[in-house]
Amino acid sequence: MNMDGSGRVMGNRLCLDFANLSYSPGDPRPHSGSWAELVDFMAEKRIVSGEKSEELRTLPESDPRAAETLLLQAERLGDAMSYAFTAIVRNQRVRREWVEPINEILRVTEGHDELEWHGDRWRLGFLAKEEGLEWLLAAIARSGAELIAEGAASRLQRCRNANCHLLFYDDSRTHRRRWCSMAHCGNRSKVAAFAKRRSAEKARAHHA
Ligand SMILES: [Zn+2]
Repeated sequence: MNMDGSGRVMGNRLCLDFANLSYSPGDPRPHSGSWAELVDFMAEKRIVSGEKSEELRTLPESDPRAAETLLLQAERLGDAMSYAFTAIVRNQRVRREWVEPINEILRVTEGHDELEWHGDRWRLGFLAKEEGLEWLLAAIARSGAELIAEGAASRLQRCRNANCHLLFYDDSRTHRRRWCSMAHCGNRSKVAAFAKRRSAEKARAHHA
C-alpha cells in the first residue's frame, strides 16, 4: 500500500516524500521543517544509519553552524522541488531558478548508482561519497532531478482532495491512482460522496 510503518503517506519517490514533508494535509502553506524532522526523514528513508542519525541529532549543539547551513539547504531544495513538481503537474515550464538548488547539491556531491532491494523489487539508488554534509541531500536532489528530467511524461500527480496538497508518483498498473492514500483522502472522499448522495435522496423523497 501507500503507507509506510509510521503511517506517513508515500509519494513513491524519495523527492516527493521530501517535498511532501513541507505540507500537512489541510494546510496549503509550506512550513519550515525542524532539524529533528529532517534527521527523522533521513533515518526513515535509510539515507543514514540509525547510528549516524543519533550522531546527527546532536549536531545543533556540537556544530550549530553546520546544522543551520544544512537545514537551510534542505529547505531551499524542498521549496525548489515543490515549485518544479507543481509546474509539472500543471503542465507548465519548470524554471531555471527552481532547478538551480538541485544542481548545486548535485555539483558538490560525488557518488555512484547501486541496485537496492526495496522489499518487492530492485531499484536504482544513489550512494553519495561521505564528505561534507551536503551528501545527506544528494539522493534527494538526484531523485528530484530524475523526476524533472522525466517532465510532462512522468506520472506525477497531486492528490484530488482539494484540501490535500500531497504529491505522488502513480506507478499503478491502471495509472488511475487519484489519492495520496486511500486511508487519508480516498475513503474521506467516498464518505463525502455517500453523504451527498444520501442527502440528495432524502431531498427527493421529501419532495415526492
Ligand atoms: Zn490526499
